[in-house]
Amino acid sequence: MNKPTILVVEDDAPVRNLMVTTLKTHDYRYLTAAGGSEAILLASSHNPDVVFLDLGLPDVDGIDVIRQIRGWSNMPIIVISARSDDADKIEALDAGADDYLTKPFSVEELLARLRVTVRRLSLMNLSGSADAAVYVNGKLKIDYSASCAFLDGEELKLTPMEYKLLCLLARSTGKVLTHTFITQSIWGRSWDRDTASLRVFIVTLRKKLESAPGSPQYIQTHIGIGYRMVRVE
Ligand code: CA
Repeated sequence: MNKPTILVVEDDAPVRNLMVTTLKTHDYRYLTAAGGSEAILLASSHNPDVVFLDLGLPDVDGIDVIRQIRGWSNMPIIVISARSDDADKIEALDAGADDYLTKPFSVEELLARLRVTVRRLSLMNLSGSADAAVYVNGKLKIDYSASCAFLDGEELKLTPMEYKLLCLLARSTGKVLTHTFITQSIWGRSWDRDTASLRVFIVTLRKKLESAPGSPQYIQTHIGIGYRMVRVE
């Protein structure tokens, strides 16, 4: 992929300028929008590779911008949200955002999120589709047709629930999945006790999957929000 184009949606001019300067310095192409309707217009007319979206916009709510873009495109959307607003982040992720950046953020954080997302994009383009029969990530391999998972060639003894959870996370590698999304996908509902059970299943899955369950390599915890399968080198 050569020079990805980033759409920056932010009504706060100093923050927008900081983001633009950072992107310019690192050779990314960019577009900017100071509001939601302009963002939707630019997203559809220019088809950017990645969108950075501030959730608090003057005209259209950031969540509605995500829903509208998701109506026609899977372009990665990284939302920018204030530190206190976990509920906003959860709503944005459930509406289809891929990741989030918390204000105030550093230039390094912005670039790191962007690198991860661009890398995931090029891997997606390489492997063709997310419907491949075999999933490989570091030492982890999932053979979807045989319903087995392997770590370093050894078959993992997973319960059906752990396997289901692993596949769900693997199919969205790089994307933060919220507790609600995961419990809805697995149990078809999301009660408090389902989130508690989810935590237990994550613990047992990690014991089998991670060489050091205390500092997990594959499954990342986003406290109060959800989990993400990380791409491992
Ligand atoms: Ca704002």
